[in-house]
Amino acid sequence: MKLIRLILQGFKSFADRTTIDFAEGMTVIVGPNGCGKSNISDAVRWVLGEQNVRNIRGQKAEDIIFSGSEKRKAKNAAMVSLILDNSGHELPLDTAEVSITRKIFRNGDSEFYINKRSCRLKDIQELLANTGIGKGSMVIIGQNQVDRILSARPEERRVIFEEVAGISKYRMKKVDGLRK
Ligand code: ATP
Ligand code: MG
Repeated sequence: MKLIRLILQGFKSFADRTTIDFAEGMTVIVGPNGCGKSNISDAVRWVLGEQNVRNIRGQKAEDIIFSGSEKRKAKNAAMVSLILDNSGHELPLDTAEVSITRKIFRNGDSEFYINKRSCRLKDIQELLANTGIGKGSMVIIGQNQVDRILSARPEERRVIFEEVAGISKYRMKKVDGLRK
């Protein structure tokens, strides 16, 4: 699944609307410490349906909204849009590009959109469930995660391999089935 574009507005350190176009091949984001590189991967993780704010290095939901600086006042909302290439129709939608948008307001309200149409978080999670880029997938490896994988116990490492191999969804279905 190819990423085409990421748009951030009011997300963490990105106060202004910022667009990142992913060119063909590999994209590398470089910059000094604290300039916002990890905030970009947090944005991708969040728009793909992350529900635990700690996994995107926050304490509470509000922490992902631009909190202001010496010269700028805080924003009231954070918005992230991710545009995915769907020319191969991996996603069950008939558009060549699919946009996923997530917005959170300081009062706690949330909005979700697929192709600019309002939806639920669950719809985004379901849309991505069999693509390997959904919630809990291993497509984003955080700075401290490499150490964690190396020092994991064999059982923990197995979970990681199962996730990468795409087996975990069957385990989830089995657990679901046994519950019914
Ligand atoms: P490193 O090279 O050290 O990994 P980095 O480029 O990955 O750095 P990030 O961790 O992405 O940097 O960005 C950290 C910066 O984001 C900090 O300056 C922090 O103040 C800022 N930041 C995080 N959340 C917010 C927020 N809600 N509002 C404003 N700024 C924020
Ligand atoms: Mg970083």
